[in-house]
Amino acid sequence: METPELITPHPGPHSRTFLEMTRAHESPGDTTFALSPEAVVEDRGEGPWIIDPDGNRYLDFMAGFGPAITGHCHPRVVAAIRDQAGKLLHIMGAVNPVHATLARRIVELAPGNVPRKVQFGNSGAEAVEIAIKMARFKTGKSEVLAFHGAFHGRTYGALSLMSKRYAREGLYPMVPGAVHVPYAYCYRCPFGKTYPSCDLECARFVRYTVEGPATGVTEPAALIVEPIMGNGGMIVPPPEYLPALRKICDDNGMLLIADEVMSGWGRTGTLFAVEHTGVAPDILVTAKGIASGLPLSAAIARADIADVWTKAREGSTFSGNPVSCAAALATLDVLRDERLAENAAAMGEYLAAGLRELAAQFPIVGDVRGRGLMAGIELVKDRESRAPLVRAAQQATDLAIREGLLLYPGGHYENVLSFLPPLIIGREHVDLAMGILRRVLAKVAGASR
Ligand code: PMP
Repeated sequence: METPELITPHPGPHSRTFLEMTRAHESPGDTTFALSPEAVVEDRGEGPWIIDPDGNRYLDFMAGFGPAITGHCHPRVVAAIRDQAGKLLHIMGAVNPVHATLARRIVELAPGNVPRKVQFGNSGAEAVEIAIKMARFKTGKSEVLAFHGAFHGRTYGALSLMSKRYAREGLYPMVPGAVHVPYAYCYRCPFGKTYPSCDLECARFVRYTVEGPATGVTEPAALIVEPIMGNGGMIVPPPEYLPALRKICDDNGMLLIADEVMSGWGRTGTLFAVEHTGVAPDILVTAKGIASGLPLSAAIARADIADVWTKAREGSTFSGNPVSCAAALATLDVLRDERLAENAAAMGEYLAAGLRELAAQFPIVGDVRGRGLMAGIELVKDRESRAPLVRAAQQATDLAIREGLLLYPGGHYENVLSFLPPLIIGREHVDLAMGILRRVLAKVAGASR
């Protein structure tokens, strides 16, 4: 079996060259990791492995923040990209066979029994922008409810829906119309309650915010929700939560937008995470895994909502690029043929069992949660107080890199160590990751004493 292998101490001499070049020539905004002494220079990818220019091999349990669902450089995806690259690289506003075929395929796969249409974009943020615009245009109303700790993207519209201080500081003013409410974060219930005796106080608060006569909300157009909150800490809400939000939207003429940029395309064990809840959103936003890492996103909307653009103009030069669309079609074939959603469900259970074992050993693991291969552990000072080990997730990911494992730091308090591996992984990869994680947690626990 292949194992992580650090031939040179990380970072090796070749990696250092590229790290220095990056630090010298690139704005650090988009190269967060270039600023960290533990940054990995990613030169090649093979399945769940990343290889750096010094030949070091890392087990990738973050899949480039999620997109590499079919693993790195899946041969069928690469072949489709090569084939399309030899045919046509770019279209704008034109009809194209792969573009049209992908749109039909996505619409056929979308949850819910109403006619749907898709609008392509290049990134998750862009698809969120499309969804907000569609919702405002369709309803004639302006306010969008979004959740504390959610991640929706860095363009101004999407950013305005994000309440995280670190994302907003220094960037004001935001786009008006965003209203932030607490999520169903049961481990740290903002209402001090415990599920299920809480009777979903958090959902009641959303209703109160929308319907209360003195909350300042006067024209709610939509509510945007991650069915499982990813970057905010891999938070899985109770099963009745999304249905409750659906009802609030229906009762108030609001559109429900599901942001499945991270949770979509099999990651949680079903094609989309909303399928676990039986809720059909009015607009479903998807990106990341859709094209195995090529830039592509899609807002999948009820047809009557998507058709708003017969009355106005919308679009961008590169959206629905044919090479990305070809990669997406191959990705969907691989998802189906290799039964990746089923594998995500099975490996997710195996991963969760491994994480629970670690939790039994390390009291700094306050909570183990997730669904399928979208999982996290919340690191705390102690289980009684649940006081967050602030920024411990970055400390742990840095330590893991030194052992050849790539993980994803997140959480409201940057204390959730998160797992987003490619959906192709097997038990052997989970075993390798758990072995490394045991050593990492021992070090983090030692440092926190
Ligand atoms: N929504 C969610 C749920 C995300 O996790 C992200 C990216 N982390 C985005 C939107 C933004 O996607 P992108 O980075 O492609 O703009």
